[in-house]
Amino acid sequence: MADKRVLLAAPRGYCAGVDRAVTTVLKALEIYPAPVYVRKEIVHNRHVVRTLESKGAIFVDEVDEVPVGSTVIFSAHGVSPQVHADAARRDLKVIDATCPLVTKVHNEARRFAAEGYQILLIGHAGHEEVEGTAGEAPDAITLVEGPDSAAELDLDPERPTAWLSQTTLSVDETMETVDALRRRLPLLIDPPSDDICYATQNRQLAVKAIAGQCDVLVVVGSGNSSNSVRLVEVGLEAGAGAAFRVDRAAELDDAWFADATTVGVTSGASVPEELVDGVLDRLQGLGFETVEIVESAEESLVFALPPELRRDLRAAEQR
Ligand code: SF4
Repeated sequence: MADKRVLLAAPRGYCAGVDRAVTTVLKALEIYPAPVYVRKEIVHNRHVVRTLESKGAIFVDEVDEVPVGSTVIFSAHGVSPQVHADAARRDLKVIDATCPLVTKVHNEARRFAAEGYQILLIGHAGHEEVEGTAGEAPDAITLVEGPDSAAELDLDPERPTAWLSQTTLSVDETMETVDALRRRLPLLIDPPSDDICYATQNRQLAVKAIAGQCDVLVVVGSGNSSNSVRLVEVGLEAGAGAAFRVDRAAELDDAWFADATTVGVTSGASVPEELVDGVLDRLQGLGFETVEIVESAEESLVFALPPELRRDLRAAEQR
């Protein structure tokens, strides 16, 4: 019988935007008087949120739950201008941990809207990032959820039109959606650069590189993490025999691996490596002792912390 092995996808786990957002909360807890509030899950990972809660962060859904004059951090997914206005009305001290790659999409939305374009935003209804981006130009933006809905949209064929997207979508499905839109609007304008971010693209590439060899693919990530859920879909499309998403090792079912020889493992962009280590330990206990790292891309991007936090960190050092 062939040796049981794990193919470990690389890159996986934390992206530059998640690392920046989590570090923002940790640094804020060090220098600002308690309590420090965070609007929404800072990143979509339950373990990360619980860990930050245990260190004192208070997570809320909306800024009206934050006491007047308090400190609030906005999550990596970004917020609409309305949320900034609500925070200003409550005299909140805002630390904005929106990923710079999400901010880039907000800027594109504002620019296209100012130039009179109708904007087709490809993304998932109800996702925080989509709500934030759509809020930049609510009158100009129409949400497109996928290739099927592209056919049903009520579009003005005379009006110049551009498409934008959520940063964490499936690259292939998004291009299908764009093709469907372009069949209706041949002059459809592309974003100035990819909206699907480097981390999403690299994690999908890494899954494609191993999926065809995997009897089972395990994606570590939370159910509300868009990029994690996409990794399951991409893995199945690319040939994995089966694919499961788990938050942590305790959710694995030994039966999934009963007939498997090769198991693929990866993780979403908001997943700390310790959760992947837990999955590898569990697989080792099931006889998957060989771990081969399959690297598809190198990543070195690092984002500076939000400027308002850097300023306050410098002031705290001088005290
Ligand atoms: Fe930024 Fe991409 Fe990470 Fe989202 S997944 S936080 S857009 S780098």
